[in-house]
Amino acid sequence: MNRKEKEGEMDIAELLKNKGLKKTNARVKISSILSQSVQPLSEKEIKKKMGNEYDRITFYRTVQVLIKADIIHRIIVDNTQIKYAFTKDDKNELDKTEHIHFYCTQCHKLICLEDVLVQYYELPKGYIQSECAVLIKGICKNCNEKK
Ligand SMILES: [Zn+2]
Ligand SMILES: [Zn+2]
Repeated sequence: MNRKEKEGEMDIAELLKNKGLKKTNARVKISSILSQSVQPLSEKEIKKKMGNEYDRITFYRTVQVLIKADIIHRIIVDNTQIKYAFTKDDKNELDKTEHIHFYCTQCHKLICLEDVLVQYYELPKGYIQSECAVLIKGICKNCNEKK
């Protein structure tokens, strides 16, 4: 483990503590892998980075806990692609708003557009929203500039 990774894991330990979660190896590992990744990662990609520490059941359990604590979030691209991303903790707890995601159909990159927030739709009477996920598909900036 290099110095940067070590520091990352220390920050994660602090974050878990702040969220009232016990520090477990899997929680620290998965959170720090995602916090150091520029792009959201799939389970397969996380598994590769975890090596021997990966265990399927622990992975699913850990991911549930981390999502609930708002440390990471899940992005469903389609029914074969689910990705996980670290949730940057710079937003106001009271004003918790989801950001949108962009999927490039050319380079297949998934990007967290942290500055573009999900809008709220007015629902018919009697409907209660618990979450709202927005995934926009198209051509990313890089691919667009290459044309
Ligand atoms: Zn692209
Ligand atoms: Zn995101």
